Amino acid sequence: MTNTIERENKFTSGLYVKRPIALVRGQGALVWDETGREYIDCVAGQGSANLGHCHPAVVKAVTEQVQTLITCTEMFYYAGRAELEQRLVEAAGEGFNRVFLCNSGAEAVEGSLKLARYATGRTEFVAAKRGFHGRTMGALSATWNKKYRDAFLPLVPGFQHVTYNNLEELRAAVSEKTAGVILEVVQGEGGVYPGTPEFLRGAQEICREKGALLILDEVQTGFCRTGKMFAYQHYGLRPDLLALAKSIGGGIPMGAIVIGERIRQLEPAIHANTFGGNPVTSAAALAALDAYEEERLAEKAAALGANLAAKLRAIGSPLIREVRGLGLMVGIELKQKATPYIAALAERGVLVLPAGLNVIRLLPPLVITQPQLDTVAEQIAAVLAQRHAE
Ligand SMILES: *Cc1c(COP(=O)(O)O)cnc(C)c1O
Repeated sequence: MTNTIERENKFTSGLYVKRPIALVRGQGALVWDETGREYIDCVAGQGSANLGHCHPAVVKAVTEQVQTLITCTEMFYYAGRAELEQRLVEAAGEGFNRVFLCNSGAEAVEGSLKLARYATGRTEFVAAKRGFHGRTMGALSATWNKKYRDAFLPLVPGFQHVTYNNLEELRAAVSEKTAGVILEVVQGEGGVYPGTPEFLRGAQEICREKGALLILDEVQTGFCRTGKMFAYQHYGLRPDLLALAKSIGGGIPMGAIVIGERIRQLEPAIHANTFGGNPVTSAAALAALDAYEEERLAEKAAALGANLAAKLRAIGSPLIREVRGLGLMVGIELKQKATPYIAALAERGVLVLPAGLNVIRLLPPLVITQPQLDTVAEQIAAVLAQRHAE
């Protein structure tokens, strides 16, 4: 074992399931480990590297910003933050008018739940089975998986979970006490399940009818991943609160809530954080937004994703139950546990994620090239063929 792996094993929290690879460098869709081995990275920092590793525009923006102003609390005004807030509101489209900046996905979700309670004066929430929204107490209360919840009970009261894509269950759960319905547009962690148009549009209608807010968690689906800037734009939705993080800063840690017009004016100091709207993360996010647009990464994700899904379906392995997804968010559901195949892929130079027990999840950087993506599909075919033959 290498020095790095030994050291981390000794001193890390122990909370992560680790793989025996120590990364040292990344460029675009590629990463290299300390032995010099190259990998195509379809983990992409759990979907935080939509722009790939070390995107030159992000590197330049961060480098310049750390030499100018490294921190600036929201107590003071700051031009880069102002521009970012405007750009996020414009990117989210009609119906949005303000932004709250924070540091992670869980924090964006947590804040959204608080703002929904504040805006409605109600306390209850409806979330979905298989849904994942983060690990802080509020976000965890919206998260479904028992494995993440059970050691931390009791969680925040007032959450119910309905079957995703089942509109009747959702309708029955939403009442005059419901502050908000929180959903992913494509369930990521839970197994890469895209929402149906009937369910998502129906959810919005039910929210409007009952005076509840529609909270969309686009932490994983945001920033061109699914073939649009935000996945709800495929469905013509108008959420009230939009939780963002992962790829917002081109790989630099950051989160945001884009706030809809139906949320009443917020009183100063009811919610806040120290690092939100930091100049360095704001500079990274502005550079990232430019890159998403200039490199037309939404269109690219749609085209590459369709092509990848077709190639994966054409594998025709009896081990594959289903290939599904939206854009470059792709799940391959197997009829057996995904872990051995994920390890075999790493040995062949392709890094991928699990989603639940049986699903191989691919979140490649959107800057991945067609030949790199073809290699990914070929290697997946190879490991499925090999394992099947064993
Ligand atoms: C990753 C993720 C989160 C949590 O984000 P963190 O930055 O890890 O707190 C929340 N919601 C969804 C949909 C996610 O994919």
